Amino acid sequence: MEAAFICSDELWSRGFGGGHPLKPERLKRTYELLAAYGAFDAPSSHLVAPRPAGREDLLLFHTAEYVDAVARLSRGEGAPSEWRLLKEKGGPQAHRYGFRSDETPVFPGMYETEGFKVGAGLTGARWTVEGQARVAFSFAGGLHRTHDQRPHARPALASGFCVFNDVAVAIRWLAHQGLRVAYVDIDVHHGDGVQAAFYDTDQVLTISLHQAGILFYPGTGFPEELGTGAGYGTSINLPFLIYTDEELYLWAFRQVVPPLVRQFAPDVLVTQLGVDTHYRDPLARLMLTTRGYVAVVEELKALAEGAGRWLAFGGGGYAVDVVPRAWTLAYGVMSGQAFQDELPPAYSERYGPGRLHDTEGPELPEDWVMEETRKYVEKSIAFLKAHTRDVWEWG
Ligand SMILES: [Zn+2]
Repeated sequence: MEAAFICSDELWSRGFGGGHPLKPERLKRTYELLAAYGAFDAPSSHLVAPRPAGREDLLLFHTAEYVDAVARLSRGEGAPSEWRLLKEKGGPQAHRYGFRSDETPVFPGMYETEGFKVGAGLTGARWTVEGQARVAFSFAGGLHRTHDQRPHARPALASGFCVFNDVAVAIRWLAHQGLRVAYVDIDVHHGDGVQAAFYDTDQVLTISLHQAGILFYPGTGFPEELGTGAGYGTSINLPFLIYTDEELYLWAFRQVVPPLVRQFAPDVLVTQLGVDTHYRDPLARLMLTTRGYVAVVEELKALAEGAGRWLAFGGGGYAVDVVPRAWTLAYGVMSGQAFQDELPPAYSERYGPGRLHDTEGPELPEDWVMEETRKYVEKSIAFLKAHTRDVWEWG
């Protein structure tokens, strides 16, 4: 199918800085690896420059107060002094909008860089809706955690490395075109911002698979969070205990995601493809390899073929040598290209030789631990079936 990879070096020109795990290098290296494979040479594979988002685009999801605050903080205003902004990357003013130096710090030019990611998602959405591509991959986005500021929503806004919620903006835009949207989020963190945005509507189905929020960020995403009013049953969560391996993960995915997405019959499939489920990810403890990750992306591709349109986002993933390989493999699935397993010379000369797929796997703990991971997910699936049997047919 025709595929669009939404990319510009604007997307990685600035970032949270030195020690922060969300390194812009992840994006640069992903583009370089795909380019080294010649992934954009095929006539059906398009390298597309995003349009920056305008203020009105950001207002599709965010409040004017928040958008203006991000602009001010980005210019270095709102902190007690420039010195303090640089030292702590956020004063009391920044704190009010969810920015914290130890998690989501303010950085100069943040409004432009993070706005560009929103523009990239909207560019991808337009390409799929206008029919120029069946799939668009906004790999720099997937910032699924930022909440809006409606009454009853949590007041903290920027959250979990996310400034603007590019996913929620793009889904809002798609919904405004009258389209039904199924959203599947495989980032290891719960997609709480997107879930909250569409919690009360049945026009958008949100499904999030993630490490359970037991002593893990953001502490939400349990099966009980099913949506409200007309949206009841269209918010689905599948949490996993630490050490869940890819065999169990794939089994659970297949129990829940394909049957629900097929019944929902979306006009467009939107996915967040965070790769922090990888066993070597420094922030989380699920045990997937690149093979398990690709198997999930292939499942999503089959669902996207049913919908006819697929808007894919990147997301988390903090092992710098894993992310470029995983997203290269994902774009291969999207665009129907198979890349040779040995990393191409143009890439390996710069970053060292290696293989596209993992050559090793995780060391799993004792059997009783693995048994607990299985029992936990079986219980969650039983709960979902019992509490949504009026909404879904579970076969
Ligand atoms: Zn994540």
